[in-house]
Amino acid sequence: MNISDSETIAGYLATMDLERTLNIADADLVFFHTCCVRDSAESKIVGRIGETIHLKEKKKDLIVVISGCMMQQPGAAELLSKKFPHIDLMIGTSNLSSIQDLLEQLIRNKDKKNKFQKTQIECFNELNSKFNENDDVLRSSWPNAWVPIIKGCNNYCSYCIVPYVRGPEISRIPENIINEVHHLLKNNYKEITLLGQNVNSYGNDLNSDWTFTKLIESISNYDYKYRVRFMTSHPKDLSQDLIEAIAKNNMVSKHIHLPIQAGSDKVLRLMNRKYTQEKYMNLLTNIKNQIPGVSITTDVMVGFPGETEDDFLETMDVINKAQFHNAYMFVYSQRKGTPAASMPNQISRLEKMDRISRLIKLQNSISCEISKKYLNTTYEVLVDNMISGEIYCGRTDNGRLVKFKAKDSNIIGSFVNVKINYNKGSSLWGDII
Ligand code: SF4
Repeated sequence: MNISDSETIAGYLATMDLERTLNIADADLVFFHTCCVRDSAESKIVGRIGETIHLKEKKKDLIVVISGCMMQQPGAAELLSKKFPHIDLMIGTSNLSSIQDLLEQLIRNKDKKNKFQKTQIECFNELNSKFNENDDVLRSSWPNAWVPIIKGCNNYCSYCIVPYVRGPEISRIPENIINEVHHLLKNNYKEITLLGQNVNSYGNDLNSDWTFTKLIESISNYDYKYRVRFMTSHPKDLSQDLIEAIAKNNMVSKHIHLPIQAGSDKVLRLMNRKYTQEKYMNLLTNIKNQIPGVSITTDVMVGFPGETEDDFLETMDVINKAQFHNAYMFVYSQRKGTPAASMPNQISRLEKMDRISRLIKLQNSISCEISKKYLNTTYEVLVDNMISGEIYCGRTDNGRLVKFKAKDSNIIGSFVNVKINYNKGSSLWGDII
């Protein structure tokens, strides 16, 4: 979502005749788009903001702007502006469409000594009144295009800051999505990734018969060669209709990212995830039975408050049974303002580290075993990047990353057949045939 937001921001800035530079020392404006989902992301961005102090000392005209979720936490913008008074502008998650006006205003208001005044903070308290449309998105991920379809979240998982900083769910108008997808396909994009904190809730707020399944079906029948991907799905909302739509539609990637978060029902209840281990596993079985070749990936968290060793072992057990192709594994990160932050029995860092390393070891061995099943088989791969020299990579229909050698950089954006010859751990290597 933040990559997509950043492309939207870059689009707004491009209309002001600003262009990207790869060297921060050349920049006239440095724009940080922040994330506050985990503590590590916040710490990293604070470090990067600190690095701009000396840049601004050398270049008084440099404009430093911070936007994104971090700014939307109560008191965070004020605290950050005290720590870093060289920041010129802070923008909340619902104020992005005002970027051009705010920057112009900032430049107009420079004081007589040609200096910027104190940090200006623009964060709406009322989040998400509407979906910001922008026709000038400056994309940087061809042949893939990120297309947001819903923003915000109504689920209030007890550990998660997103509903507080992104606001309630707002679905984008279907016609705008369909027009954008069609436009992208006409302009040679080969992969459309629909984005939302919970794509399965798409349409719930539209007072119409639009659902995520209907949306997927509406954008998967154009006469081009392309793939439709999506993320992220909440297990409680992934419908039978959607499973059938994925199974029967060749354009829809056979990959589902389905965060499980924990294996213990007690922990799932404390997390307010609204499903049990049994319900999740039944859904998984349904998906696997109905979508041949599907790959399922997940998010798992360890060290949630109150998670005992037995709870953790239930997570290990379910990871073993589920056989996910891959998993994003995290230690619980206390987010101020969420219910979990004030729950008793917070887990020590040492215990969290011990559990995450056991979990990573298990999942890595599962991913490695699954990768072996791909050997000596040929898959159609959409080439999306050059890694280095003559090494390229791309994804199979079910989202598996494959690396291979090629000589011609024009290959990026095309579909090629790759025979998988070997695996290095979970990563797949092959040759074009
Ligand atoms: S579904 Fe839960 S974890 Fe995902 S964004 Fe919403 S509140 Fe956060």
